[in-house]
Amino acid sequence: DNLGPEQHGLIIAHYGTLIDVEATDGDNKGQITRCHMRANLGSLVTGDNVVWRDGDPHGVIEAVLPRHSKLSRPDPYGDMKVVAANIDRIVIVIAPYPEPHANLVDRYLVAAESIGIEPIILLNKTDRIDDSNRELLSTWQQRYTELGYTWLQVSTTQQQGIDDLTGYLANYTSVFVGQSGVGKSSLINALLPDANLRVGALSENTQKGTHTTTTAQLFHFPRGGHLIDSPGIREFGLWHMDAQTLLEGFVEFRPFIGHCKFRDCAHQAEPGCAIQKALADGDISQERMASYRHILATLENE
Ligand code: GDP
Ligand code: ZN
Repeated sequence: DNLGPEQHGLIIAHYGTLIDVEATDGDNKGQITRCHMRANLGSLVTGDNVVWRDGDPHGVIEAVLPRHSKLSRPDPYGDMKVVAANIDRIVIVIAPYPEPHANLVDRYLVAAESIGIEPIILLNKTDRIDDSNRELLSTWQQRYTELGYTWLQVSTTQQQGIDDLTGYLANYTSVFVGQSGVGKSSLINALLPDANLRVGALSENTQKGTHTTTTAQLFHFPRGGHLIDSPGIREFGLWHMDAQTLLEGFVEFRPFIGHCKFRDCAHQAEPGCAIQKALADGDISQERMASYRHILATLENE
């Protein structure tokens, strides 16, 4: 077969067994080629860096480079399945309306911590900050920045803070998560103003029929950085996790884990509990402890 030289590429979308690869080096850098893959490669996902060769009608992916991060979600049988690779940032979008819930934000944070991808909190709809929510939101800003998380604020409709956000995102591959109605779609539309940038979203020529992606797609931000998005990714963090993962996902709990008197301590009312001592000493906030207990109870009832 007539294949081009080996080159590097980035997977930007998936269509069943066909995969769109964007060339990241060579004369065709930036161009997208639909590819098959060699049978021994396992499952490839959006965000994977690959070695491939151009070809007609399809190129061939020959190897996949090591992933520095993986975002997985359960398939219908409950087995975890990788859906995107090499993500740097999980952007947790919140807004004054719909009213944010601390335990939901904490659940997203825990899920991000559990896979080792840095979460940041993005408050959208700052134009809707009023006397009923101002104090709460500023308390949250203080709490989460003290924990070491980045907190950004924008108003998508007022175009406030969007410049700072694009500057921030330029260095990373990000995903946007958060409850419905906080403005993720609006934000993404504002950040990807040119429809041509939504590479994978375009359908192929009509002779071959239209291909619709059921999996994640990668988009380029105009000032640099990438977005990986899919309906499934937007639900990130809402699936089941075990109690230990939950505990370890509260970053400020970590120094105290393993220091309780009883190895099977449930950190509720046991004597010699290091977590409860940290709470009493003020090293863990009441709010985060309440959130931990709330999520734990939710998980136990799932
Ligand atoms: P998603 O469900 O998270 O994708 O949220 P959408 O993008 O669909 O937005 C939900 C609603 O919030 C829509 O009516 C948007 O117009 C509105 N919205 C988005 N961003 C802002 C904002 O910055 N300020 C205000 N006031 N409304 C916004
Ligand atoms: Zn304990």
